[in-house]
Amino acid sequence: MDKQYQQLIELGKYLVKYGYARGSAGNLSVRLDDGNILVTPTNSHLGALVSEELSLISIDGEHLAGKKPSKEFPFHISVYCKSEESNCVIHLHSTYLTALSCIKGLDPKNVIQAFTPYVVMKVGDLPLVPYYKPGAIEIAEEIEKLARNHSAFLLANHGIVISGPELWGTCYSFEELEETARLYFLLKEHDVQYINETELQKLKKMKKNG
Ligand code: ZN
Repeated sequence: MDKQYQQLIELGKYLVKYGYARGSAGNLSVRLDDGNILVTPTNSHLGALVSEELSLISIDGEHLAGKKPSKEFPFHISVYCKSEESNCVIHLHSTYLTALSCIKGLDPKNVIQAFTPYVVMKVGDLPLVPYYKPGAIEIAEEIEKLARNHSAFLLANHGIVISGPELWGTCYSFEELEETARLYFLLKEHDVQYINETELQKLKKMKKNG
């Protein structure tokens, strides 16, 4: 089996095993060497993906092979069109990030003010995409505006979208974000010492330099 098909299936199992994906929520994609995109099918369980059923679509969204793609595929395409270094997209309704996406009054430019360094180094700012119904083209349009400068997007009242050069590294960045969202709620009633601006700039530079 092609390596990228195999990786997508293994990642799906991992995300279910650790409780990041439940039922038929969430979808994954990878950009293949020929420029086409492999996406998880609509209504699929990420823990039970089958190679022949994975949807193959073109960068224009044309369905080429496999089952019908997830209805949320347009925002995957937005990422690939705007970010050359992104070769995979993970979208999940994971518990803590989804809970965070329902909080009123978040800063749309960056929803989590930094209190630990790793999320800044791995992900950077996390902008908020306003609420639209799942599959709405407006989500894709909003992500298209942000994808050149960001690798993660919080969809209001919905979940998280994160992209990166390869699947497992992107998954680890997702886990860092999910854990940060969990800490956000743990710290909510506490007087938090945030990372100061000088230190924040050093971390951002580390992210840029890899
Ligand atoms: Zn969704």
